[in-house]
Amino acid sequence: VVDYADGAWQDPQIVPYGPIEVSPATAALHYGQALFEGMKAYKTVDGQVVLFRPRDNWARMNESAKRLCMPEIPEEIFMEGLKQLISIDADWVPQRQGYSLYIRPFMFGSEGLLGVRPANSYKFIIFCSPASSYYAEPVRVKIEEYYTRAVEGGFGYAKAAGNYGGSLLPAKLAGEQGFHQIIWTDGREHNYIEESGTMNVMFVIDGTLVTPALSTSILAGITRDSVLTLARDWGMKVEERRIPIQEVVDAYAAGKLQDAFGTGTAATIAHIKSITFRDQEMELPPLAEREFSNRVSKELDAIRYGQAPDPHVWVVP
Ligand code: PMP
Repeated sequence: VVDYADGAWQDPQIVPYGPIEVSPATAALHYGQALFEGMKAYKTVDGQVVLFRPRDNWARMNESAKRLCMPEIPEEIFMEGLKQLISIDADWVPQRQGYSLYIRPFMFGSEGLLGVRPANSYKFIIFCSPASSYYAEPVRVKIEEYYTRAVEGGFGYAKAAGNYGGSLLPAKLAGEQGFHQIIWTDGREHNYIEESGTMNVMFVIDGTLVTPALSTSILAGITRDSVLTLARDWGMKVEERRIPIQEVVDAYAAGKLQDAFGTGTAATIAHIKSITFRDQEMELPPLAEREFSNRVSKELDAIRYGQAPDPHVWVVP
């Protein structure tokens, strides 16, 4: 836990997990100055505890902070906090493939205030919890045409708490219809694929890996970047661009929609079982035929658990 006051981050402290006291007028609770990160610690086959690309989480947190008028967190506070916390919690990092210690750094405006303005005081906190991956089974997803997660010029690219608050109702409604996740579309015309609730989304169409280009309404997933990097390393054709829903429908009709999956820290690679658009449920090929997503999922796991070379130096002891 570290407080920001008088224009500076104060002394970081490690404290037992428990309630924190805040004013009823806390800025975060009223005006939404709240953001977070999600990352994981893994235990390698040699028993070493490692993080996956932690500096990318730090950098993304600061991008979010800028957008929400919050102070940036210095790299050394972020990294040293992780290091100390994880060394205390090392025994909680499961030594089992697919399992990890989930780490939640977050920051919020802690000043009690009534006028709408950026807070003058903040709290930055990190806590952890053991985790398995989100979805054991391939997921059924629905293309959302009514609700919008994020709009151009908004803060969808920030990992802001408010983005998730607005997603809960559409996700609940989709859940009641038997879907595990929504595929969000653009807020203007609902014609283009954006991302999923907690994952970026990718397709293999006729041998090309295609994913929506980053924008102000899409979170720059660290898993997304890792998957694209590996695909390029392997000589695969990769396209980051706008993807009309119709392109996916047409590819499916032509038998060219070979793979679809979500990428994210929690899920790693979540295979998509089917995509529903309006009344049509498009069933993806059986898992055994998903060459790319199977390979990249295995490779990322192997890098994380220390079973494969790590040419991009993603893993940090
Ligand atoms: N999009 C959203 C909305 C998310 O919450 C997440 C999870 N952080 C992602 C994408 C995937 O990002 P990452 O790969 O960095 O976990």
